[in-house]
Amino acid sequence: MTDTSVAAGDHSNFIRDIIDNDLSNNKLNKVVTRFPPEPNGYLHIGHAKSICLNFGIARDYQGRCNLRFDDTNPEKESIEYINSIRRDVEWLGFEWHSNPSASDYFDQLYQFAVDLIHQGKAYVDSQNAEEIRDNRGTLTSPGVDSPYRNRSVEENLQLFEDMKNDKFADGKHALRAKIDMQSGNINLRDPLLYRIRHITHHNTGDDWCIYPLYDFTHGLSDAIEGVTHSLCTLEFEDHRPLYDWILDNLETPSRPVQIEFSRLQLEYSLTSKRKLNLMVSEGHVDGWDDPRMLTISGMRRRGFTPESIVAFCDAIGVTKKDSTIQMGVLENALREDLNIRAARRMAVIDPIKVVIENYPEDQEEMFSGVNHPQNPDYGTREVPFSRELYVERDDFMEDAPNKFFRLSPGREVRLRFAYYITCNEVIKNGAGEVETLICSYDPESRGGNSPDGRKVKGTIHWVSTRHAVKAQVNLYDRLFNTANPGAADDITESINPDSRQIMENARFEPAIELTGNKIAYQFERLGYFISDYDSTTENPVFNRTMTLRDSWAKIEQSR
Ligand code: ATP
Ligand code: MG
Repeated sequence: MTDTSVAAGDHSNFIRDIIDNDLSNNKLNKVVTRFPPEPNGYLHIGHAKSICLNFGIARDYQGRCNLRFDDTNPEKESIEYINSIRRDVEWLGFEWHSNPSASDYFDQLYQFAVDLIHQGKAYVDSQNAEEIRDNRGTLTSPGVDSPYRNRSVEENLQLFEDMKNDKFADGKHALRAKIDMQSGNINLRDPLLYRIRHITHHNTGDDWCIYPLYDFTHGLSDAIEGVTHSLCTLEFEDHRPLYDWILDNLETPSRPVQIEFSRLQLEYSLTSKRKLNLMVSEGHVDGWDDPRMLTISGMRRRGFTPESIVAFCDAIGVTKKDSTIQMGVLENALREDLNIRAARRMAVIDPIKVVIENYPEDQEEMFSGVNHPQNPDYGTREVPFSRELYVERDDFMEDAPNKFFRLSPGREVRLRFAYYITCNEVIKNGAGEVETLICSYDPESRGGNSPDGRKVKGTIHWVSTRHAVKAQVNLYDRLFNTANPGAADDITESINPDSRQIMENARFEPAIELTGNKIAYQFERLGYFISDYDSTTENPVFNRTMTLRDSWAKIEQSR
């Protein structure tokens, strides 16, 4: 069996070791990090790892962490995404030192590019995109120099200025660094620095018709902000020589270093904005905050707590080794947090009716329900009881095996907090479905205690019909039924068709806050639940955040 328990957070990792070393060698006196999302989608659980790392380091070393929008692709970016990212970072419990955008630096970046041209280290290439691609070479063959590579500095300066001044159509020219078309590292084969794009930018409007590329922008933005350690994921390891080349060839306000760590990959889920975007745009889910999506906003709606996500990130740690984390690790971090946090209540998701024939029709009584078995501070609530109740359809079986300790004709069970009842008769509808169970109760068993020492093994939950609140409950399962859905050419093939089950006929005890998406409940025996954004007092809608136990563990073991 694999261990998916969540150990108490130990923050040490190889990046903190590097920082400790830098501090003790007096190489630095303040640690500055940044979390640099591109605002082209909503943040997901993978981003949470980077957020916890960057903001966590700034917090623990009394340093600073900026939230920086790496917004150099205006065609894919939007204010909606910017707002969602800010909200998610705040919700996770982190505070940024400042919140700049790479686009705030467009003037400075332009000047840096001009500086490179002056030094003869950048040139305007007039090959079209296809020619540039074809002449770049491959992993096994070197690239071919552009026929425009030896333009004079003056000509390059003039052309670059004309590019900026809207003299050319998209793709007519591009600015490239002049490094080495024979380099074994393709990223160093005269990488593109600027391209012409006539697109309105959400921050700079129509001020620019040329936009800098990521690799050029990123390191310079870090340097402008005084970032000391620029932490990114392993796929940028091959870009580090370019990151260094740019900073080494320009006079920058500071000199950051780039350090790579492994991306979070989680079984049964996608951690790529592009693929999540596809799920949203093709309508496979209800939106970026669909509770089945492992976006931060989906998880929030589903009922994840920020504390559980941070605990998960602590538990998985930060290394340079790629690995895939089991979903159980995330689920257990959530269960552990909700177990401490959630008030207990009773609800019936798929009800059948129980009529207690020897309980007086007009009688009602209140039982005192403990709100949290381990935390007396949660107090108690009153749970109303009457002659007619709802119980869970699953808790009844007509031809039950010996080991079935719930309701069955002739058998006795304990109603949580209340009485022992025995099932005497089963009433079915025309379709042969069980509708009502006629039962009797033992008044001596009040409070659930045995009056004469007789044994009753099963305890089931219930709700008084007269006092019940009708609600919709959404039950969720994993969105994909293969462990690595992102690997397939068509991710939609492995969508789990049963990832959401809508139960329209659920019944809650009255002491439940029906709106707000704030209060986590444990519905006894059923799992953890929270009100959905769509929930109203008239039409309550709840999401099951998580079951009490991992129902997939068994399936995985038997694989
Ligand atoms: P995607 O492919 O999902 O768009 P990305 O890396 O392009 O991801 P960005 O918005 O550019 O997303 O990333 C912002 C920061 O978050 C980067 O530093 C990136 O390395 C980090 N990040 C993104 N995905 C993960 C992940 N799965 N695990 C850890 N860090 C991640
Ligand atoms: Mg990116």
